Amino acid sequence: MQIYGNYDVVVVGGGVSGCAAAIAAARVGAKVILIERFGTLGGMMNVVGPPGWAFAHLWNGRGEQIIGGLVEETHHRLEAQGLALPFPAAEDCGEDTYAFVDPDWWGLLIFEMIRENHVNLLLHSLAVDVLKDGDRICGVTVENTSGRMAVMGKVIIEATGEGDIAVRAGVPYSKVDRTKEELDPPSITFHMDGVDWDKVTAYFKARPDQFNKKQYDRLMKSDSILDLVRAGVLGAVGYAELTQKALDNGDLHPYGDLGHFFTHREGGHVQPVFQHSAQVKDCDTTDITEWTAGEAESRRQAAIAIRAVRKYLPGYENSYFTRLTSSMRTREGRHMAGDYQMQGPDVTECRKFPDVVAKCMMLANSGGPFHSALTPGGSLNQNYQVRYAPKDGGSYDIPYRSLVPKQVEGMLLAGKLISVSEDFNRDLLPENIISGQAAGVAAALCARDGDTPRELEKDVKELQAILVKQGAILTGTH
Ligand SMILES: Cc1cc2nc3c(=O)[nH]c(=O)nc-3n(C[C@H](O)[C@H](O)[C@H](O)COP(=O)(O)OP(=O)(O)OC[C@H]3O[C@@H](n4cnc5c(N)ncnc54)[C@H](O)[C@@H]3O)c2cc1C
Repeated sequence: MQIYGNYDVVVVGGGVSGCAAAIAAARVGAKVILIERFGTLGGMMNVVGPPGWAFAHLWNGRGEQIIGGLVEETHHRLEAQGLALPFPAAEDCGEDTYAFVDPDWWGLLIFEMIRENHVNLLLHSLAVDVLKDGDRICGVTVENTSGRMAVMGKVIIEATGEGDIAVRAGVPYSKVDRTKEELDPPSITFHMDGVDWDKVTAYFKARPDQFNKKQYDRLMKSDSILDLVRAGVLGAVGYAELTQKALDNGDLHPYGDLGHFFTHREGGHVQPVFQHSAQVKDCDTTDITEWTAGEAESRRQAAIAIRAVRKYLPGYENSYFTRLTSSMRTREGRHMAGDYQMQGPDVTECRKFPDVVAKCMMLANSGGPFHSALTPGGSLNQNYQVRYAPKDGGSYDIPYRSLVPKQVEGMLLAGKLISVSEDFNRDLLPENIISGQAAGVAAALCARDGDTPRELEKDVKELQAILVKQGAILTGTH
């Protein structure tokens, strides 16, 4: 088989975590290649996104900033060009605060940063298998228009979101037991434009039930609902009664919700993004037959939901549908076994670990209860359910060991794939960028010193010092 090249670090998957890993590794001097199956980078951030909250939650409930690094760096670079909203005011910072970037501009910026940091790119290349020497992975096989080829590396970073490469390498994993629990549903996202925001604002001024007190008080003092979004104090709105009305009239499919999130666009513009209006019940996206059927079903639902949005939401009468993502966005999947598998009490007890490589305050959701709460009559704000929340507004550590998969040497897990138990997901962009950055630095150090990622567990001081130098926040917060 043709060998495409030999690298210190091979990153498989060009979503947010893979991009962060590649840039961070290159900054430590590693020769890096980033492999992506599509022609672009960003993954669920902007290829099958954008998500409404891009980025959310850089602060814990006490207003302490807990996430920095490449999240903050990319935010500030975009902000300097008017492509991201500034950080919210200090008094607004907390667990419900949003730091918005324009996700599509983020996707363009990341190409610039890949170039600046001399990361090699291999696009339109699907990684299909692994090459191993005993327990150690030493490369991946990719398929692309030029044929089948091997990409060799001292350390391979698995950042595919789905874990297909880790599974082929032999990393053990588990999945949610569907006899006991519904799967967290995958969703397809769409945007509408042409909204009459004054009409939307008038509707919500009469609906205190849709907001927390702080949000509502500010809305009543403000001219526009968009002011709340721009201040970073509002990320989503729900329409429980209107959703119910649409359902009663047979104008909405039973797994839809008319509530929406907000995406920031350049120049301070804001778009509604509907990411819970077409979601497929109990669809296992690690099974290709179910995933294929789910893609078809999500489009059937999207067509119904778009018509219902126009018919039922005040201010949307003349709105028009502008974008449907190219694929469903997946949530629940494989839970990889790592040297440390994070558990619910790590979140609730705000546990700190000596091998911390990232901090997080994300409420840990899981399974059906979160998104199926948006089914009949559900409102985004009223029925949001959380399984594990950090106590006293604190945050918890992500330990390096949760990036090191069991049974396979020479590999690191990044982003969605770091090791957590079946009862919750690593669900949001900032935490996945920051764990990708940690995986990148760790991989570069291993390649430099000839260590395996597992050997690095013995002493993570240099890893932590470099991460802090790269802007990560590892200590000093609740
Ligand atoms: C419906 C939905 C809404 C969400 N909303 C928000 C939100 O509002 N705010 C927020 O912060 N987060 C949100 N998230 C979560 C966020 O989008 C993800 O956590 C994040 O994008 C995961 O990043 P990742 O890099 O780990 O994986 P991904 O983004 O999935 O990236 C994986 C990449 O690997 C590539 N790939 C896969 N397999 C291969 C292969 N074999 N060979 C080569 N390339 C491969 C893919 O094409 C992709 O580019 C949402 C998620 C969903 C599903």
